[in-house]
Amino acid sequence: MKICFTASECFPYVKTGGLGDVAGSLPKSLAGEDCEVRIFLPLYKGIKTLEHGIGSFDEIQNVPVRIGGKNVMFSVWSAILPGSEIKVYFIDCPDYFHREMPYTNDIDEDERFILFQIAVIETLQRLKWSPDIIHCNDWQTSLIPVYLKTIYKWDKLFENTKTLLSIHNIAYQGRFSRDSIYNSGLSYSEYYPGGPFELNGSFCFLKAGIIFSDLISTVSPAYSKEIQTAEFGCGLEGVLQTRSDDIYGVLNGIDDNIWNPGKDKMIPYNYTLKNIDNKLLCKKELLKEAELNFDENIPSIGIISRFAVQKGFELFYPIAEQLMKLNFQLLVLGSGENRTEDFFKGLKQSFPEKVNAYIGYNNKLAHMITAGCDIFLMPSKYEPCGLNQMYSLIYGTVPVVRKTGGLADTVADFHEYNEKGNGFSFEDFTPEVLLESIERALHIFKDSQTWKKIMKRGMKKDFTWKQSAKIYLDLYKKCRDKN
Ligand code: ADP
Repeated sequence: MKICFTASECFPYVKTGGLGDVAGSLPKSLAGEDCEVRIFLPLYKGIKTLEHGIGSFDEIQNVPVRIGGKNVMFSVWSAILPGSEIKVYFIDCPDYFHREMPYTNDIDEDERFILFQIAVIETLQRLKWSPDIIHCNDWQTSLIPVYLKTIYKWDKLFENTKTLLSIHNIAYQGRFSRDSIYNSGLSYSEYYPGGPFELNGSFCFLKAGIIFSDLISTVSPAYSKEIQTAEFGCGLEGVLQTRSDDIYGVLNGIDDNIWNPGKDKMIPYNYTLKNIDNKLLCKKELLKEAELNFDENIPSIGIISRFAVQKGFELFYPIAEQLMKLNFQLLVLGSGENRTEDFFKGLKQSFPEKVNAYIGYNNKLAHMITAGCDIFLMPSKYEPCGLNQMYSLIYGTVPVVRKTGGLADTVADFHEYNEKGNGFSFEDFTPEVLLESIERALHIFKDSQTWKKIMKRGMKKDFTWKQSAKIYLDLYKKCRDKN
C-alpha cells in the first residue's frame, strides 16, 4: 500500500510535541508492514539541511502557486529518514517558512499552511505518484481532503486516493477569518453558519477536514470518545458526532530504541526486570545532580511537561501548603506558562531540601528523571495520548495521573484488594482529589513488596509502535475500501 504521510513536524528534523514523535516513528513501522511511505514536511528555517543530508530535488523547482492575490513559488528538497529507506520531501518556500518558529501568530499563518498543502498535491502530481492513502495530521494538513474532493477532483491520479485525518489535539483547530477562504482558493458557498467551513464566525481548517476526510483517527481510544462531548470537543463535538462511525482511536507507540531502560544511553545505569535494583542507582545519581539528599525510603516524584493549561498544574496551587508537609522529594522539568514556571521556582526557593525545578527543555534530564524517580505525576485536564506516562511505566516509575484520554487507556488504577493496577488514577479534576491520590501513592510506597509489584506490571507493558502500526494498516485498508 502507498501512503503519503503529511505533517507539520517530524523528528529528527523538527519537533515541538507528540506529533513530531509520531511522524518520525510511525512511518518506519509501517514500512516494516510492507507499505511504501513517503513523508511531506515544510522546510522550516530551523531544519539543518546539511546535518540531515537534505538536498535540492532538481525535478521540482520554482513551481508557481496562487495564494489569494499573490503569486508564490515553491521548490522541493528531499532526504531519506534516518534509520529507514523512507523518502522525505520538504516544501521550500522561504517567504513562508523562514520564520523563527514552525508555528507563528503572524497574520499569514493560514497562507503558510495553505501553500504547504497545495504544494504537497502539486508535488504528487509532478512525481506522478498516486498514493492509496494520504494520511493528514492536525489542522495544518486538514484541507488536503477538501482539495482532493473539490479543486483537484478532475485529476485521475487521485481517483483512488483516500484520506485519513489524525487529530492529535482538538484544541488546535486552525481558525481564521472569512477572508482566508479566498487565500485557500476554495468556494465561499461552503461558508455559512453551521456549514462545512464555518465555526463560530471563523473559517476552521480542522472542521473542513473532519467533514471531507474519508476516515478520522485520534491518538487514543478514550480521546476519540471524549472529543465527541461538549467537555472535550472544543466546539467541534457536534460535527464529530455526525462522523461518529468513522472515528477511530489508535494509541501512539513509543520508540523503544530511545526510551528503553535496558539500553537508554542517557541514564547512568541500565536496568530491566531482571536487575531492577539498578533503578535505585539511577535515583542516587539523579538526586546528586539535583543537589538533594538521597534516601531510598523517601519517594521521589517527577514532573516533565509543557506548562500549558492542558496539563492541569493549576490543581497544585491551592494544595501546595498541605502537599509540602508530606514526605517526598520533587523533581520538576518543564517550561511554558509563566504562572506555572513561577510556582515551581517558588517551591524550589521555599523548600530547597525537597524540591528542584529546572525551567527549560533538557532531553537528558528528562531521561534521568524518568529513570530515577519513584513516582511520575501527570494530572492533565485532558490528554489526547501522552507519552510521558508510557515512558514512566516501562521505566518502573509509577504514574499518578488524571483518568482522561490516553492516560485512561494506559494507566490502570491500583487496587489493594485485587492486586491489579500499574499506577494511580483519579477522575475528578479537583485539587483535593489530586492530593488524595498523591497521599495514596506515598502510603503504598512504604509497602515495598506491593510497590515492586506495581512497578513490574508497568515494566511488562508493550507500548512499541509494532502493535499500533498494525492497527493503522487496518485503518488504511478500511479507508481504501470505503465507497
Ligand atoms: P505533549 O505532546 O502534549 O507535550 P506528550 O507527553 O505526548 O505531551 O509528549 C511530550 C514529549 O516532550 C515527551 O517526549 C517529553 O519527555 C518531552 N518533554 C516535554 N517537556 C520537556 C522538557 N522540558 N525537557 C525535555 N523533554 C520534554
